[in-house]
Amino acid sequence: MLNPVLPDVPPGRGIFCNRTLNLRSVRAIGYDMDYTLVDYRVDAFERMVHAQAQERLAAEGWPMAGLDFDGAMVTRGLVIDTELGNLVKADRFGFVKRAMHGTRMLEFTEQKKAYAQTLVDLSESRWVFLNTLFSLSEGCLYAQAVDLLDRGALPRPFEYGSLYRHVRAGVDAQHMEGHLKAEIAAAPERYVVQDPEAALALLDQKAAGKKLLLITNSEWSFTSKMMTHAYDRHLPGDMTWRQLFDLVIVSARKPAFFTETGPFFEVVDESGLLRPVTGPLQPGGIYLGGCAAQVERDLGISGDELLYVGDHMFGDVHVSKRTLSWRTALVLRELEGEVSALEAYRLTELCLMERMRAKEELETRLSRARLALQRLHAGYGPASGADATTLEARVHDLRGQLLALDAEIAPLAKAGGELTNARWGLLTRAGNDKSHLTRQIERYADIYTSRVSNFLHATPYAYFRSPRGSLPHDPVS
Ligand code: IMP
Ligand code: MG
Repeated sequence: MLNPVLPDVPPGRGIFCNRTLNLRSVRAIGYDMDYTLVDYRVDAFERMVHAQAQERLAAEGWPMAGLDFDGAMVTRGLVIDTELGNLVKADRFGFVKRAMHGTRMLEFTEQKKAYAQTLVDLSESRWVFLNTLFSLSEGCLYAQAVDLLDRGALPRPFEYGSLYRHVRAGVDAQHMEGHLKAEIAAAPERYVVQDPEAALALLDQKAAGKKLLLITNSEWSFTSKMMTHAYDRHLPGDMTWRQLFDLVIVSARKPAFFTETGPFFEVVDESGLLRPVTGPLQPGGIYLGGCAAQVERDLGISGDELLYVGDHMFGDVHVSKRTLSWRTALVLRELEGEVSALEAYRLTELCLMERMRAKEELETRLSRARLALQRLHAGYGPASGADATTLEARVHDLRGQLLALDAEIAPLAKAGGELTNARWGLLTRAGNDKSHLTRQIERYADIYTSRVSNFLHATPYAYFRSPRGSLPHDPVS
């Protein structure tokens, strides 16, 4: 999935391409705000959401004391199984590769028993995909709530499904009720990661003639505060973030923004006063609500002339691609850690691959010896030239070699499965295969990258080419 990275760009800061994309033919670039243009300290943000949702549950009589947010307990791309009270990691086919009930990882046999007959299918309401970093507090709180339910510690009965909906409502309320946003807006330096290069990347794109759009689900007052905090200090002279964008759309209600039609309102002053929009959207305007169809119509730009950049796998990337055929970029902040972990593991991985090749060769020789023995005993087929005693000794010897090799392989493979997160491993892999998240990235994100400022190094003139995909029958190099 790699594409060329300039020599001075760390490998994790590249822009990786699934489907060839020529930035020169993109006329407008739409950006999501939260975790896209504005990068938050995940632990600080999610810890606060968790704490506030927890307080709300405690007020209902839930025994929440001592339950803290644990950023390593869940990762983006996991799936909540609301039927069994589990979190699972699935591979690209939907097979469950790891599972956790409450906060306890399932043993392999338990996991097999629960999921041998079950594929994760995100179109079923049973499954909830953790689409974004905002999902981490919800996943963690749900796992902890399942433990409480199993211990009989909750003040009223729940099933795992209704428990999930209750936790979801608690987390949802924190985002909606304003207290959370007020805290962040009051001390943005505690929550926002500054990235001066992002401002320059946007200036480059604007000067290269791209129309820039900001399309966020956040409300106006929060958007204004976060963008001012993250961008104004990095822009030249008196320029403010507002001058970067041809259109700013807040409270956009994505994904409905992409799929439905809805009216726009103009935000007419800093306090957020609104007035209905009757004519076309005006350049430099600040709007609320609306829909992508009108954006396309008023800009005279549509489909593959638009690139949308966002961090929400479903709400930003999947839907804009599926509904409008926009070009899409996923911001996957965890990618930098993922790539460095893979680099650090590279020598071990080479060692593992070499042992696996040796194992395959031994297995082939063992299979052949067993078959020769079978034919000899049953009296059919061509003679192998060896008698039964020789063949039995060969089988015995090969089995011993395989056992020794397995003992060498096990710790190397275990280390590979624990990269970046001891419970779940890499976001993009599931065992030897691609993860369910990776499958979605491949399908819906034309490109993906760890942060917006990576566009700086790529330039607005970049031509991203997808690599030739590998297939199991490709000749081995
Ligand atoms: P965007 O990523 O810029 O579109 O903005 C995401 C907005 O959605 C932020 O204002 C978040 O606070 C908000 N948000 C994230 N998770 C939830 C949720 O579970 N319920 C309601 N709003 C959410
Ligand atoms: Mg976002």
